[in-house]
Amino acid sequence: MSEITHRSKTRPVKVGNLTIGGSNELVIQSMTTTKTHDVEATVAEIKRLEEAGCQIVRVACPKEEDALAIAEIKKRIDIPLVVDIHFDYKLALLAIEGGADKIRINPGNIGRREKVEEVVKACKAKGIPIRIGVNAGSLEKHILKKYGYPTADGMVESALHHIKILEDLDFHDIIVSMKASDVSLAIEAYTKAAQAFDYPLHLGITESGTLFAGTVKSAAGLGAIMSLGIGNTLRVSLSADPVEEVKVARELLKSFGLASNAATLISCPTCGRIEIDLISIANEVEDYISTIKAPLKVAVLGCAVNGPGEAREADIGIAGARGEGLLFMKGKTVRKVPEETMVEELKKEIDKLAEEYFKK
Ligand code: SF4
Repeated sequence: MSEITHRSKTRPVKVGNLTIGGSNELVIQSMTTTKTHDVEATVAEIKRLEEAGCQIVRVACPKEEDALAIAEIKKRIDIPLVVDIHFDYKLALLAIEGGADKIRINPGNIGRREKVEEVVKACKAKGIPIRIGVNAGSLEKHILKKYGYPTADGMVESALHHIKILEDLDFHDIIVSMKASDVSLAIEAYTKAAQAFDYPLHLGITESGTLFAGTVKSAAGLGAIMSLGIGNTLRVSLSADPVEEVKVARELLKSFGLASNAATLISCPTCGRIEIDLISIANEVEDYISTIKAPLKVAVLGCAVNGPGEAREADIGIAGARGEGLLFMKGKTVRKVPEETMVEELKKEIDKLAEEYFKK
């Protein structure tokens, strides 16, 4: 495995009440699918995302009416709001005025220097950062001409081009994304970006696909990047309800032990020794722990033969045992419970452990 551990070396950048980069945990982001000027629908979607664990939300801002809705949306939500703007500096200024906590705009695409200066001045005045979004599918013409097609080096060159415009204006509250739909290209681009600059990196595999295929593709790409110690914030992009993006992102963070505020389910794959209806129990328990904000490990196992021992690292768990269940903690059986009530018993124990965790 590579030696890169870019994450902790990055510059801390404030986004609303959160800090991205430095020694902070990876932050989960998603993007709304509503028309931003439809404030009711946008706020309702943001609330659903927040409930699922989304920590920063981005909205599209293609028109003036969208930029003008930012102030009202801000009043009604609790998580930082990022406004996504392409080219039009006037929309950026309106969004900043409306209270955006971060804007996503590529300074090299804004146009005349005075326009870039105005946007930077407004960001400085409000203390908000800019995310530079490099995308393999929309690299600058001169870079494409130089490299012939989208490459990781070309993407890094594009990022450095936009970064330099901001640095020349003494602006350093920068976050950079290096998105590509091709997993290998994204991994190489993020790895090279981590070596080229110390601004926080926003991870994403763009246009990754539908819920199932996109989850696998995102996990493959983002997992490889995260395993190198790269990435300060992430968005999983799926052609699905954005709540699913947040759920996938949370699972990914948990897989790397990078989420201190979420419980994890361990469930066995089942085999001929199974004694309970494990699949439906596992789904019920997974649903239950999705709202638990403590880093508990909860196991659900099909039988007691190998059960508790197979899940020694679990804080709490149940294993099926012919018409009953065994409740166990850290690999040791605590007590037997009737099959009909074992899920309820498990839930009560989970609640107790979560309560103890927060008392500590
Ligand atoms: Fe099979 Fe039991 Fe292991 Fe599940 S816990 S895979 S049922 S042996």
